[in-house]
Amino acid sequence: MIETVYIGLGSNLGDPVRQLVQAQAALAARDDLDLVRCSSLYRTPPMGPPGQPEYVNAVAMLRTHLAPEALLDRLQAIERRQGRVRSGPRWGPRTLDLDVLLYGRHRIHTPRLEVPHPGIASRAFVLVPLAELAPELDVPGLGRVSVLLARVDTSGIVRISP
Ligand code: ATP
Ligand code: CA
Ligand code: CA
Repeated sequence: MIETVYIGLGSNLGDPVRQLVQAQAALAARDDLDLVRCSSLYRTPPMGPPGQPEYVNAVAMLRTHLAPEALLDRLQAIERRQGRVRSGPRWGPRTLDLDVLLYGRHRIHTPRLEVPHPGIASRAFVLVPLAELAPELDVPGLGRVSVLLARVDTSGIVRISP
């Protein structure tokens, strides 16, 4: 079964634009998934501990046969290759964060995975790039992306590249 999957990309360390471009290339290079489209890159205000550098965020649309946790394994391997260290505070600065936002229309609740991603409806840095790719998409249990986007504060988010 092939599923359409949306991945959130984020970075605020180690040249974030380069990190996201490199992550897109790493996704595109895998033969177990098909990178269909990637949003523009956006500069976004940081969430979490204060005093962090600004983030760069984007969303990628993939098609894959991989099961959800196998997909998460691949994403975490790419994070590690790009120097992600899981030690600092929650939502602290990182070279690369790859989150599974949506996996088809599935709702997943396992110790390793919550899908749709729990932050999807409240995070402008997710909804702005997601709406660029799929404004009409219905997020299971939460509603249409364009409707969710209209409810969040998008001030401070700046599109930086096509
Ligand atoms: P947040 O998930 O709130 O955006 P974060 O991305 O900073 O925070 P991480 O430290 O990257 O959190 O991940 C912590 C754990 O979250 C991972 O080890 C993973 O098992 C789990 N997780 C649960 N749901 C998801 C998901 N949809 N996508 C990615 N990781 C998830
Ligand atoms: Ca995240
Ligand atoms: Ca994450």
